[in-house]
Amino acid sequence: MKSLNKILSACIILVLCSTLTACGREELKPLQRTDIAMGTIINQSIYIEEKSSGGSWLGSFGENSVERSNENREETGFTDLTQEVMSLIDSLEKELLSWRLDSSEIYRINQESGKDGGTEVSESLYTMLEHLLEVSGKSNGALDITIGDVVRLWDIDEYASGEKTGFRLPDQKLLTEALKLTGYQKIAIENGRIYLPEGMNLDLGAVGKGAALDTIAEYFVSRPQVTGAVISVGGSILTYGRKPDASDWRVAVIDPLNPSQSIGYLALEGNWCISTSGDYERYVELEGKRYHHIIDPSTGYPADSGVKSVTVLGRDGLMSDALSTACFVLGVQEGIRLAHEFGAEVLFVDENGKITMSEGMMKYYHGN
Ligand code: ADP
Ligand code: MG
Repeated sequence: MKSLNKILSACIILVLCSTLTACGREELKPLQRTDIAMGTIINQSIYIEEKSSGGSWLGSFGENSVERSNENREETGFTDLTQEVMSLIDSLEKELLSWRLDSSEIYRINQESGKDGGTEVSESLYTMLEHLLEVSGKSNGALDITIGDVVRLWDIDEYASGEKTGFRLPDQKLLTEALKLTGYQKIAIENGRIYLPEGMNLDLGAVGKGAALDTIAEYFVSRPQVTGAVISVGGSILTYGRKPDASDWRVAVIDPLNPSQSIGYLALEGNWCISTSGDYERYVELEGKRYHHIIDPSTGYPADSGVKSVTVLGRDGLMSDALSTACFVLGVQEGIRLAHEFGAEVLFVDENGKITMSEGMMKYYHGN
């Protein structure tokens, strides 16, 4: 829960930034809701178009906007969008991405590693895997979804959340063995099937939040009454459409050296996905040293490129999330090169608090 609290304070900064409006104007209130899912905090602010007759859906909702919307459901024909968003996230995890739940495709793929003929994969997961393998190739394996066994040996998420106590460094022999079972080049995807060497375990933890944003954006497109929204799934944020007063979305960039504060914000028009990977998100400390949750697949140890956080700005959630993890492992120079190859912008904060960003990011970033 300790790390969830940290994420919550980050989310509060985000929401404060995103609901700022021009002075003197009456602020139209979005539907707002906060939940815990995917092991993180989900924050939603959704603007709905004003009802064409019989008054406004907006402005009337106060703090209990979700409850009010439920009360008004029959009267307005309004279905609870925020609940739908939560259901979509839930399904994505249960049906596709979770390595823990036996209902998911990833779970089945891992169970069937080494099987002759491989495992059939749904179209949406297949497309994701194609994109992820491309990022793995272009990042020289800095992003590697075959890292599952190494991640399990560290279990940083469990120690950081307090689920487990008494953290110790993993046994070097076990780590070497687990590393032998990793390597994105050892998997093949072909004609709707995936082939994994026996014993390998996929882990899509690096991109689940970004994939959720893509699903949510697609859902909003099918709901024309949604005129604008900002959704945060942990460190991954979607801005969708526009605000009622047409001002920019403002997404805070957290200070990794002091995560309850921001160092600045991105001012954005329209549809973007912003993903941040940082060593302050999930970590444990042992003998004064921090061990965080992003592993360098070339060593099996938490990445140590001198970077404290990486924020990636792109049009696609899965890719922004994949790139933020890869850039964290690669460090500043190689990270900027990688982001550029995928048409994304990137901002790094190093251990001295120094900010370095891609040229295109300068247009959007405003320091405090
Ligand atoms: P967060 O989940 O906090 O947003 P990231 O998006 O950077 O952070 O993903 C970190 C998660 O991804 C880890 O918890 C682990 O499950 C997985 N992971 C860690 N290192 C790698 C890596 N090099 N490549 C792919 N997945 C990784
Ligand atoms: Mg990521």
